[in-house]
Amino acid sequence: MTALPYFLLFVFGTAIGSFLNVLIFRYAPEGRLFDAKRLGGRSHCPYCGHVLGALELVPLLSYAIQWGKCRKCGHRLSAQYPAVEFISGAIFAGLPLFFNSFYAKSSILFAAFSLPAWYYILVLVWITVFLVWLTIVVIDLRHYVIPNALNAILLVCGAIVMFITLRYDSLLFPFRDSFLKQYQLIFSPVSGIIANHLLGLIFGLVLFGALVLLSRGRGMGLGDVKLAAVAGLLLGWPDIVLATMLSFILGGVLSVILVLFRKKTMRDKVPFAPLMVLGFVLTVFFGAALITGYFHLFSL
Ligand SMILES: [Zn+2]
Repeated sequence: MTALPYFLLFVFGTAIGSFLNVLIFRYAPEGRLFDAKRLGGRSHCPYCGHVLGALELVPLLSYAIQWGKCRKCGHRLSAQYPAVEFISGAIFAGLPLFFNSFYAKSSILFAAFSLPAWYYILVLVWITVFLVWLTIVVIDLRHYVIPNALNAILLVCGAIVMFITLRYDSLLFPFRDSFLKQYQLIFSPVSGIIANHLLGLIFGLVLFGALVLLSRGRGMGLGDVKLAAVAGLLLGWPDIVLATMLSFILGGVLSVILVLFRKKTMRDKVPFAPLMVLGFVLTVFFGAALITGYFHLFSL
């Protein structure tokens, strides 16, 4: 296995991350996310308006060389720039590696164009999903809102994943239509790929819809309900159940810590999307391993 293709994917990913930063920084909750007028115009320092030159636009490196400061006015720049660029690069390089191992495909990415086209599409859709999740986390942290356009992209991705899994199930490694692998059998009341994905969607919709109704919109918003529903379609049943449980556990632990350290009170607004996304991501990467560990804990 040569590392070069993955390095190139990482570099490409940081450039996409640079674009995501533009999308995030120029977003205002009252406007649309993909607004040509807002997205047009050259990148500039938010503090002094200095228009960035070619070298200042290089992802990660420009931030490092300038010590995280504007070259003109010396104002400290947000750590969000390198963070989003790095995570985006890691998504581009890491997801193909992960899925190659998950589906037991050859890990030689470019030498192995013998892999069927649908497989590349599947991995590309998952890369898109992770990029959208990243964007949602940062926007929710900044504005306590999830743009509808992002949930709409996830809905389309969920439908594509469902249909590819359905169409090529026989070509997939056994038990790879769920990130819980063989454990999906214990928890699935229905069999059938479409049924599981639709059940996941309904689970997200009903559970989070009920939470919004019960809390009268104080805890969560409709954006969270949509995020949970499309994640249900994408991950399917029973994956979405594990993902949701993980996000609630993480949320509980985090609330206790924040209240103990008096960073927040019980009445404060907390953005929930980052916790949900953390639950989704943990389920994708460690779903089956977490359940194995859980069973071992109780020696089952
Ligand atoms: Zn400046």
